[in-house]
Amino acid sequence: MSEKGKIEVRFRKLGREKAFGLAWCDQRVIEVDESAHKGDEMKLLDTICHEVLHIANPRLAESTVLKLAAELAPVLYNIGYRRIHINETTTKDDPENPTKAEPSIAPEAGR
Ligand SMILES: [Zn+2]
Repeated sequence: MSEKGKIEVRFRKLGREKAFGLAWCDQRVIEVDESAHKGDEMKLLDTICHEVLHIANPRLAESTVLKLAAELAPVLYNIGYRRIHINETTTKDDPENPTKAEPSIAPEAGR
């Protein structure tokens, strides 16, 4: 493992780029268009895995990245990995009462 920093994930619309996700390898940033996935959490997981793989190895061919992400995403999905909406819960946190900040698991089809 390298000593590089964390990969930062940013969510924004990528309509102009016509992409579900983008990877900025030098900056170790991935950008993901959540709305383009239309609530398909498995596809979103696939996109995130895909972009992370590009950063992990920028020399991998696109076809290899597609294949690896397509293997990885369903495994993570099928054992239950989903997002929790950290920002939505943490911005409403009461610092005096951290127990109120317990994140809840987002309903899978609630979006
Ligand atoms: Zn790609």
